[in-house]
Amino acid sequence: MEKKPFVTLEQVEEIVKDYPTPFHIYDEKAFMENARKVNEAFAWNKGFREYFAVKAEPNPFIIKLLKEAGCGVDCSSYTELMIADKLGFRDDEIMFSSNDTPEGEFKYANDLGGIINLDDITHIEFLEEECGIPETVSCRYNPGGVYEVCNGIMDNPGDAKFGMTYHQMVEAFNILKEKGVKNFGIHAFLASNTVTNEYYPMLARDIFKLAVELQYQCGVHIGFVNLSGGVGIPYSPDQEPNDIMEIGEGVRKAYEEILTPAGMGDVAIYTEMGRFMMGPYGALITKAIHEKHIYREYIGVDATAANLMRPAIYDSYHHITVLGKENEKANHVYDVVGSLCENNDKFAVDRRLPKIDMGDYLYIHDTGAHGFAMGYNYNGRLRSAELLLREDGSVELIRRAETPDDYFATFDFSDILK
Ligand SMILES: *Cc1c(COP(=O)(O)O)cnc(C)c1O
Repeated sequence: MEKKPFVTLEQVEEIVKDYPTPFHIYDEKAFMENARKVNEAFAWNKGFREYFAVKAEPNPFIIKLLKEAGCGVDCSSYTELMIADKLGFRDDEIMFSSNDTPEGEFKYANDLGGIINLDDITHIEFLEEECGIPETVSCRYNPGGVYEVCNGIMDNPGDAKFGMTYHQMVEAFNILKEKGVKNFGIHAFLASNTVTNEYYPMLARDIFKLAVELQYQCGVHIGFVNLSGGVGIPYSPDQEPNDIMEIGEGVRKAYEEILTPAGMGDVAIYTEMGRFMMGPYGALITKAIHEKHIYREYIGVDATAANLMRPAIYDSYHHITVLGKENEKANHVYDVVGSLCENNDKFAVDRRLPKIDMGDYLYIHDTGAHGFAMGYNYNGRLRSAELLLREDGSVELIRRAETPDDYFATFDFSDILK
């Protein structure tokens, strides 16, 4: 599918008068429509809730909008809980899916009334010491081995640090029941960025079977199944986007085949999507500032991997459009690079693009999730601004760009740099 920018060159030329490049920009109309569609796809399930994975795009302005669209939040750290807290999320609007959890975080999550999703059986004791065992507790499952969804789409739970084995799940449920838990949840995240409509339905089938077994074996009430994240997006133009309506229908089928006949028709379905909720609805806008001709052809831009780390660490593809040259022939081959003193700071390698001139604006697609969020300060590079393209076409600053003062703020206890 052709990938189209949601802003034009003319719009960007206006925006840069107030906010210089690089910046991430988000398309409110599109992500709100998508959020409503997610809720529609699972409307057949009475208790359904999407808990937006805060780590994917931890901007309170965005999360406030997703709250208006009916989403809860999935947090996994103290500061993510603070965002939830300040925005007024409470009780079952908060899922706390942490792992290797530092002290104080279970207590904070529990004080907000949030649902705690335990990554490990040893965390039961830790939780009890911190804040006692709440009435609702979820446990994260890891079946081990390789999880193959369909041809070529698979992941490797056996090598993942997350979750509990089958036997630990049984034991954890028995212990928690003993300690007074009334309402149980099961959570599993077995494959990441799955661009197929089959992942959630297949995962649901497996976890529903587990839910029936655990309900009978342990004599507990399963309140919800949390399918977590992992629903992917088409980063590359040759991929077909997932159809969330079809995914919702697939989960419904599995539900009606497995849970309903087992008398478990009251189980709520939860999801914790990040990438699917925001990924396609953000872009990194950056300007070509240098060209270099050595053994390869390089275009240097004003953004770096500090603004978008995915290509550097996962070698992942992000489509690039040269704004204003959408209809020109892609008859040049470039490496598009940032300024870090690291040779993996490349947004694209051997990419066919139209001829790029200095001052051209490049639109790097699909940065709405795990984009800005993974930003860092290597080489003293600063994180960019984030902008929101409102439904009425106006542009709002939702995070200012970092300044050198932010970079040096952690030396404020001393006058060494004065
Ligand atoms: C990262 C994460 C998510 C979101 O994953 P996506 O691939 O962005 O959908 C959800 N739940 C947990 C526990 C996670 O760690």
